[in-house]
Amino acid sequence: MIKERDSKGMTATRVIYSADQRWFRGNLHCHTTNSDGALPPEEVIGHYASLGYDFLGLTDHLLLTDPEPYQRDDLLLIPAVELHGDEKAPGRTYHLVVFGPNAGSVAAMHQITDSAQTVINRAYEASCLMFLAHPYRLGMTTEEVLILNNLLGIEVYNHVSKLGGKALSKVYWDVALDAGLLLWGFANDDAHFRRKDYGGGWIMVQAATRDAENILDAIRSGRFYASTGPQFEELTLSGREVYVRCSPARAIRFVSNRMQIMGFEAEGNLLTEATWIVPSAGSYCRVEIEDEQGHSAWSQPMLLESEAL
Ligand SMILES: [Zn+2]
Ligand SMILES: [Zn+2]
Repeated sequence: MIKERDSKGMTATRVIYSADQRWFRGNLHCHTTNSDGALPPEEVIGHYASLGYDFLGLTDHLLLTDPEPYQRDDLLLIPAVELHGDEKAPGRTYHLVVFGPNAGSVAAMHQITDSAQTVINRAYEASCLMFLAHPYRLGMTTEEVLILNNLLGIEVYNHVSKLGGKALSKVYWDVALDAGLLLWGFANDDAHFRRKDYGGGWIMVQAATRDAENILDAIRSGRFYASTGPQFEELTLSGREVYVRCSPARAIRFVSNRMQIMGFEAEGNLLTEATWIVPSAGSYCRVEIEDEQGHSAWSQPMLLESEAL
């Protein structure tokens, strides 16, 4: 229920990102020497700790790198794995990152003959979270994405793929949202450490404290955004009116279904806030901000009720 009414029937404002709760920065996609990464886990973890990250998922291919021996006070490690199918077989072109306390059991059951839906079902039953990784890089069709049930999110930005021009998968996100699939958007490095491919894409999670349960709960319920630089400071929804406040931006864009879009671009002073009333044809709205260096941040989508309600 997005739009709430008080006892007098007035529309209440829903706070998506609050101005006064803590943010935690994390990357949920990178590789170590336990699969095709160039650095061992402790060096990967050291790089992220030195950048001041709050949490990290080591997502080796097909097997869980147990994070427990590497837990440290300044960096929370979340059990995570990247699972994929046999790309030569029909319908097996997918990469899924599965994370949460039971990610190891989902990895142990996995075979590359499994479909994406089988992986999602196992993750769902194990109370894990999961997102579809880099669908553009893989060349997935939108139809392959739209048939997935219970998928939590999609990797909108995959930093390692920027080199080859396929970092952004947001078209898949909007096609899914327009079709009524509520997916959270993730940005990640997918770092392999053969070059400086880390620290380029991350998520910012709003939670009371940095413990695994709070971080995972916040991600599950969409209290986070994806970024390559800019910051959201506040995001509220009041009826169909979206208000955003953010770090200085060259552009603030509102994205809804199909032709329903709106943007503001700075002429002179950079922008730090904007408002848009989403037209009645829009069933969702998400916000993108872009800084002077061309870096972006993507809010999670907000579902809108029809005006008749
Ligand atoms: Zn992958
Ligand atoms: Zn990967």
